[in-house]
Amino acid sequence: MPYKDPYREYLRQYEKRMNQGEHLKELHIIWRNQNRQKVIAQGKEAKRKFKEKHPELVKKQAHARHASAKIPMKDYCELCPEEDNKEKKLTRHHPDYDYPTIFVTTCPICHRWITLEELYESEKVCRGNDHL
Ligand SMILES: [Zn+2]
Repeated sequence: MPYKDPYREYLRQYEKRMNQGEHLKELHIIWRNQNRQKVIAQGKEAKRKFKEKHPELVKKQAHARHASAKIPMKDYCELCPEEDNKEKKLTRHHPDYDYPTIFVTTCPICHRWITLEELYESEKVCRGNDHL
């Protein structure tokens, strides 16, 4: 009987699990496409719950959006490296809603990243094992 290297066996299993993960991701995308109405309804429900939980924040966000709408954005993401900066949809990130006209132009990916970083810093969100 040939010798089986346990590490190699582990890697083989790992690869198998990862491939299953890819398969599950594909299934999830197919499910989302087939159940668009359900996905939209869940999104609306999540928005409603957030509004109910953070009414002041939602008000401030709306005010900041309105107050800064007429101020032109830069035509590039201020956080991305230059070579990644082309042909992206851009958004305004408000570091502080008390100053609604001060914002940073970001792409959606940087916007999500910077918002999560701020949440982690304010300890509103637990980042994995950081609390241990
Ligand atoms: Zn960016």
